[in-house]
Amino acid sequence: MAMYITSPDDPELVRLCRLLAVRASELDRTGVWPEEQLRLCGQNGVYEWSIDPAWGGQGWNAEEIIRGYLALSAACLTTTFVLTQLAGACRRIASSDKGHLKERLLPSLAKGEQFATVGISHLTTSRQHLTIPVLRADRVDGGFRLDGYSPWVTGGAHADTIVLGATLMDGEQSTDQQLLAAIPANLPGISMPEAYPMIGLSASHTGPVRFDRVIIMDEWLLAGPVPNVMQQGTGAGTGGYETSILAIGLANAALSYLEDEARKRPDLQAPYDTLRKEHTALRNELLAFARNESPCTPNVLRYQANSLVLRASQAALTAAKGAGFLVGHPTGRWCREALFFLVWNCPQSVLAQNLCEISGMG
Ligand SMILES: Cc1cc2nc3c(=O)[nH]c(=O)nc-3n(C[C@H](O)[C@H](O)[C@H](O)COP(=O)(O)OP(=O)(O)OC[C@H]3O[C@@H](n4cnc5c(N)ncnc54)[C@H](O)[C@@H]3O)c2cc1C
Repeated sequence: MAMYITSPDDPELVRLCRLLAVRASELDRTGVWPEEQLRLCGQNGVYEWSIDPAWGGQGWNAEEIIRGYLALSAACLTTTFVLTQLAGACRRIASSDKGHLKERLLPSLAKGEQFATVGISHLTTSRQHLTIPVLRADRVDGGFRLDGYSPWVTGGAHADTIVLGATLMDGEQSTDQQLLAAIPANLPGISMPEAYPMIGLSASHTGPVRFDRVIIMDEWLLAGPVPNVMQQGTGAGTGGYETSILAIGLANAALSYLEDEARKRPDLQAPYDTLRKEHTALRNELLAFARNESPCTPNVLRYQANSLVLRASQAALTAAKGAGFLVGHPTGRWCREALFFLVWNCPQSVLAQNLCEISGMG
């Protein structure tokens, strides 16, 4: 019998995490969409955490949400990542000034009756070097016509709603105006090729979504057309600390493994102690940042989280030795999953800093 998790201190969260953790290897091996895992999260009220009580959510504060997601991501990164894309869509809807969309979408998203995802990276971290935008919007009577593609959409084939960004065109020329809309995923002209096979998180079923003369109505607009639409709405800007939560959560899974091994093998104790100290400091920094008590920037947090998760997962693999290199061993999976943070929603400055460290420049 599943219980509602009402705070990050709720023992039911520990129980849910155990259920997710025992399924994580199989999920990685099969690449099947984590339907059962998402159902368990729904049953336990996880979808409600970040949604305002006015729309049927529990309205946890930022620190509580971070603590909840830290626990989930240590148990199963793929499921937690899917949840973050849903939470991102909810956040964009909630921070808009479109009451009718909030009313229509948020209550069913909070209950887990519907699934939503985001296709926005082509306005922020993907395809920024191209002169012609990959997803273009032309004004038509009562709405916009979309042509092109959104290169990265997690769980698009499982979504009822996609929160989508597009660039407004003026004839053949792109403008500086962008729009954000919450659109039904089954509109005529939308197609979804097979999701990408990836070196990790394949079960997130991430892939492109194509748009061939898709008409979207004005009533689905969340914001825009305006310049920098991703900066619109309270707390909805890009480059937040959310991505660091998952990296720090995954690092904790690897360090817990190292801790267990160090109990039997004294030579592992000093490396474990060093990494754990760094992890604790970074976790505290993240929580302080959420309370507005840290001068640290999200990009500095992300760089440090990326660096830590790569080293912590590789330390766990080193401790596991050859056994860790076998398919199905968690340490090998954690190493592959840690690489995800080098590419997921990674701002240019973070990328440059990580590259500097990797290449031994600093
Ligand atoms: C597993 C996974 C899930 C994701 N899920 C989502 C999601 O649900 N929603 C979402 O919005 N986003 C999602 N993303 C996208 C993510 O946030 C990043 O935007 C994305 O990883 C950026 O990679 P890119 O290959 O598109 O970058 P690009 O910058 O487009 O790079 C692609 C290629 O272009 C070339 N290139 C890049 N820069 C230049 C340059 N300056 N000059 C010349 N050539 C260049 C390089 O050859 C490079 O390999 C996801 C990503 C991953 C990996």
